[in-house]
Amino acid sequence: MKYIGAHVSAAGGVDQAVMRAHALEATSFALFTKNQRQWHAAPLSEKTISAFRAACEEYHFTSAQILPHDSYLINLGHPVSGALEKSREAFIDEMQRCQQLGLSLLNFHPGSHLHQIKEETCLKLIAESINIALDKTQGVTAVIENTAGQGSNLGFDFCHLAAIIEHVEDKSRVGVCIDTCHAFAAGYDLRSEETCAATFATFEEQVGFNYLRGMHLNDAKSTFKSRVDRHESLGQGNIGKAAFSWIIKDPRFDGIPLILETVNSDIWKDEIVWLKSQQYS
Ligand SMILES: [Zn+2]
Ligand SMILES: [Zn+2]
Repeated sequence: MKYIGAHVSAAGGVDQAVMRAHALEATSFALFTKNQRQWHAAPLSEKTISAFRAACEEYHFTSAQILPHDSYLINLGHPVSGALEKSREAFIDEMQRCQQLGLSLLNFHPGSHLHQIKEETCLKLIAESINIALDKTQGVTAVIENTAGQGSNLGFDFCHLAAIIEHVEDKSRVGVCIDTCHAFAAGYDLRSEETCAATFATFEEQVGFNYLRGMHLNDAKSTFKSRVDRHESLGQGNIGKAAFSWIIKDPRFDGIPLILETVNSDIWKDEIVWLKSQQYS
């Protein structure tokens, strides 16, 4: 069973995100549980929590179909201790919000070394940040997203994801989300069925499908190996439609949220219809 959806807006309250996903005829969705460009947010009220839970029940979304994303400000590998502390606190708050909403996953970008510390040191800081957050929460899995490798962002190499996981104590609550645009920009080819098979064979070898908790299905405006993160609508970028059709047909991507973060939300409904149609085509 494929869970296909998009990263929908939570404007007006997190329960509104559920309505928007339902309107798209999606079987999964992603959302921010607070403003992604601000450090602080009011705690979730009992009313908001129950409205969200009721909407999920009404429209048949289980926590396995929902992939919340954390704030863009958080850097769990920050080289400066005060700033690292601030990010860790914000991340714990994000994990706690997910727990309150009955969600089981939290998708985040690993972190950046800011050219001040070695990659290896930064990856260890990220793992330590995850350990702290897992210790303070229950039932929520930390889902590390691969990146395009823009600036000093780590996570562009599958080996970075593996290195972080290696240092996480509770391996039952750590996983990864692969963003196709980020992977392509980082140098993992996806332009044909053969290259998709090779890329995910590398993924299986270095990380393992047992850690795969979600996918971001984005075509790329950025070019291969450019290390630039620019999403595009499916079939309109440099990856092309074959990769997405290949993913939909492969049972290793069953039972996890497959999320569009493509640039034109007006055609999400069509993109979802097309993705669904690929399963048995
Ligand atoms: Zn992301
Ligand atoms: Zn993404």
